[in-house]
Amino acid sequence: MIYLDNAATTRTAPEVVEAMLPYFSELYGNPSSIYSLAGKSKEAIDKARAQIANVIGAKPEEIYFTAGGSEADNWALKATFEYFKGKGNHIITTKIEHHAILHTCEYLEKLGARVTYLDVDKDGLVDIEELKAAITPETILISIMFANNEIGTIEPIKEIGEIAKEHNILFHTDAVQAFCQVPINVDEMHIDMLSSSGHKINGPKGIGFLYIRKGVKIKSFVHGGAQERKRRAGTENVPGIVGYGKAAEMANASMAERTAKEIELRDHMIERLSNEIPHAKLNGHKTKRLPNNVNFSFEFVEGESLLLWLDQAGICASSGSACTSGSLDPSHVLLAIGLVHDIAHGSLRLTLGADTTLEDVDYAVDKIKEIVQNCRNMSPLYEDYKAGKTKSIIDTQYK
Ligand SMILES: *Cc1c(COP(=O)(O)O)cnc(C)c1O
Repeated sequence: MIYLDNAATTRTAPEVVEAMLPYFSELYGNPSSIYSLAGKSKEAIDKARAQIANVIGAKPEEIYFTAGGSEADNWALKATFEYFKGKGNHIITTKIEHHAILHTCEYLEKLGARVTYLDVDKDGLVDIEELKAAITPETILISIMFANNEIGTIEPIKEIGEIAKEHNILFHTDAVQAFCQVPINVDEMHIDMLSSSGHKINGPKGIGFLYIRKGVKIKSFVHGGAQERKRRAGTENVPGIVGYGKAAEMANASMAERTAKEIELRDHMIERLSNEIPHAKLNGHKTKRLPNNVNFSFEFVEGESLLLWLDQAGICASSGSACTSGSLDPSHVLLAIGLVHDIAHGSLRLTLGADTTLEDVDYAVDKIKEIVQNCRNMSPLYEDYKAGKTKSIIDTQYK
């Protein structure tokens, strides 16, 4: 099997599993208790908090563990709105955010928030001038993702942070895809809140964190005990936290070398797919791009059938509608970068991982070539194109 869906989730590293195991068995104490068994759990959490804070230049006490990236995103938005709604009700975000942000914004709109969803350009980049123009005295929060999970585009986070700071507006970033893939420093980038998730960095599922800069006063998310400095109650997921800390430490230590290798493989894959498959288009920015992300649209092909054939060939990947699986709506991200429905439907996302090899990439490209051709041979649209009745949309509109 060749796993090229690391943006959906990653394999938990064996070292991470090993680090977690004792906290399921002999070290099962509740960190809030006072005997020494509990102290072991507490120490383990403190260690993980420091390991994670170190990756983004934060202080350990600014890291609040959550049950994942979605919860961290929900917290940042809902609790900011609740705290500041007396001051203003305006939130600025983008059209290409993860649903954990977009659906939370829609929910807040029902509670009286006004949300600006910024457009992005054809590469998925936010326009800084548009951001500036959207700011009003009512603006309480800017939430813009660090890097997009579908097309891999990395946003100008430092510039956005500077603008937020100038206007005294809180800045949150969903960094679930960027954490340990791109160097992040919350002070240099003027980030007030940041979301991340364990299972995207070879850590366990069901654990994430929200970084909240010291002094930022937003509401607590879960009420109950005094855990997470009284802001997110509930007995801690000790094994999950330990695994997350270990995964962050490992992924941070290997970041430079791993991402350099990924970029080489990514660009090799992009080059081969562009050169060897006609009527194909790379989605996302060519260089301002996550090291492990490849996203293509192939004309005259349905993404879903591509995935089924790839599965037959032992390749796991994802298409532009996988995120809202069950629905046939094309991805909101692909529509936001200006793709028409037909082209958005024929899209394929391949996300490399720490152990992806050149052989994996070449095998996948060979298979994709073959499968795209087979799908086209069965397509009535392709038949019309070959008969000269229609033109290729990609060749005429997107090249
Ligand atoms: C995966 C992902 C999330 C959700 O994280 P979970 O831990 O699965 O809840 C949020 N935002 C982005 C950009 C993601 O890629």
